[in-house]
Amino acid sequence: MKHTKTEVILTGVPASPGIAIGTALVLESRVSNIEKRIIASESIDVEIENFDNAVEDAKKQILEIQKKVQTELNDDDAKIFDAHLLIIDDHTLINGVKSDIKISNVSAAYALYERVQKFIETLNKINDPYLKERGSDIWDVASRVIANLHGQELESLKHLPGQRIIVSHDLTPSDTVFSDRNNVQAFITETGSRTSHAAIIARSMNIPAVLAVKPSLSSVRSGDVIIVDGYKGEIILNPTSDSLSYYARKETKGGIMREHFISESTLIPETLDGFQVQLAANIEFPEDINDAIKHKAYGVGLYRTEYLYLNSEHLPSEKEQFDTYKKLAVILEDKPFVIRTLDLGGDKLNTKINITEENPFLGYRAIRLSLGFPKLFETQLTAILKASAYGNVKLMFPMITCIEEVKQSLELLSKIKLKLKEEKIPYNEKMEVGVMIETPSAALIADKLASIVDFFSIGTNDLVQYTLAVDRNSKQVAYLYQPTHPAILTLIKRVVDVAKLNGIWVSICGEMAGDPQYTPLLIGMGVHELSMSPLSIGSVRRVIRKSKMHEAESRVSEALKCPSASESLKISLDYLNRIEPNIYNLTVGGDINEKT
Ligand code: PEP
Ligand code: MG
Repeated sequence: MKHTKTEVILTGVPASPGIAIGTALVLESRVSNIEKRIIASESIDVEIENFDNAVEDAKKQILEIQKKVQTELNDDDAKIFDAHLLIIDDHTLINGVKSDIKISNVSAAYALYERVQKFIETLNKINDPYLKERGSDIWDVASRVIANLHGQELESLKHLPGQRIIVSHDLTPSDTVFSDRNNVQAFITETGSRTSHAAIIARSMNIPAVLAVKPSLSSVRSGDVIIVDGYKGEIILNPTSDSLSYYARKETKGGIMREHFISESTLIPETLDGFQVQLAANIEFPEDINDAIKHKAYGVGLYRTEYLYLNSEHLPSEKEQFDTYKKLAVILEDKPFVIRTLDLGGDKLNTKINITEENPFLGYRAIRLSLGFPKLFETQLTAILKASAYGNVKLMFPMITCIEEVKQSLELLSKIKLKLKEEKIPYNEKMEVGVMIETPSAALIADKLASIVDFFSIGTNDLVQYTLAVDRNSKQVAYLYQPTHPAILTLIKRVVDVAKLNGIWVSICGEMAGDPQYTPLLIGMGVHELSMSPLSIGSVRRVIRKSKMHEAESRVSEALKCPSASESLKISLDYLNRIEPNIYNLTVGGDINEKT
């Protein structure tokens, strides 16, 4: 095949695994160009009536989608559409549109478009990825009402001309659900993240997805041949014939391997020489528990509860939190369920706790914020304690830097326990309490911390950020974000050694834990548990089962002697390539010669 265009590789967030090779279908942004239309005063009543009808129809359509998702996917995914029902029932929005029609004599479609656009602009100014994503739900509902006003059918992905890779600026949950399942090969977007609703649904539907593609997808045209690598988060435009055959092989291998991973999910994650490493799941949303169970996680090693706070208009009440924690604890039965107290601040902000700082990552974040808002903290601790009566709940404090933070938190916990005892409310008196080791100071005082807590969980995402002084979200300094930097490996090893010396459990729950590139080194350090996105469990389990502990240990000794991150990474990768070349090729990309 002769190529006239040059191959271009774009990168994004790998939101749903798998490879797709096919033809692009670029979706136009449906609400991007609503023209201002002035209506005659005598038409105002009719316009408002049309708007009311369009809203009513939209409500029915959303309920219909919800039902479809419930029958074809699952209850939890269906709940996503509860948010859409709340938006369509929002009186401030609906009445605001009506008053704009009356006062400014504009069409209903324009009035709605303008209100929603302003609202989303405000959301985008708040540095909160979760809220930014909720903008996509609002667009979804607004597009539906506008389509109804124009008598159009919204679900443009319902009937595709054949197999297509969907390319879009944004993707709404409705787009995803209503897409022609037999013909959608993959989704790629410029916005979103692994936790976007569209990503959650793509994973449930087993459709590869790469979101937040950088710098943009503007060079893609409908009809272009394109490759989507949902494992690595890469998009290959105008692929060469070498790339086409390489990814075709990767697709076959990947599909076969994912099936194998599921069939291997009952196998014990132990090395060939008999050392077990527990594989737990990190969850952000309660519905993620389904993936954790599907991949036979040992338990939940990290529940990022701040999403409960980011998710809601109001701060979640004790009852709301208790209900959520209890529900998950019951589902997990006796499996460990580590609930991390809220880690707001940094890049996760909540409008209800409005704090602006020059350096949010070094500021009022996580445990600092919880201790600064004792009522808020007490509410969460009470809900967690109450839930501890219903399962194997453990509590964990984030971003600890000194022993006083742990002591103060434990004091508050003791007070709440006393209160619950007086009120005869059940809780687990022996609930284990642990800390995240994600600052260099915590790693360096691990021996002191070990004497007052029951377990450690090493948060490598922040440990790398704070040790190497590199913003984990910065594109400019991303090259310095090196998980195998000698300083990081030394700190992790030190924390693991201290934990073992003190007889306490040690887990790693940063992204490193779920990346097979690092598995040989992490298991060789002697951790008890690796906690990761449930979708990563299969590949890490496989790597562990192909490893020998004494070999992994000797790789760690060698790596700790390396002066640079690249040299220690090479040691890990060489071992991975030797014991499990399939995973090496799938996740690391393999040798370039693989393509020929
Ligand atoms: C970490 O820092 O590694 C971690 C798991 O916490 P988060 O990513 O939520 O900051
Ligand atoms: Mg962290």
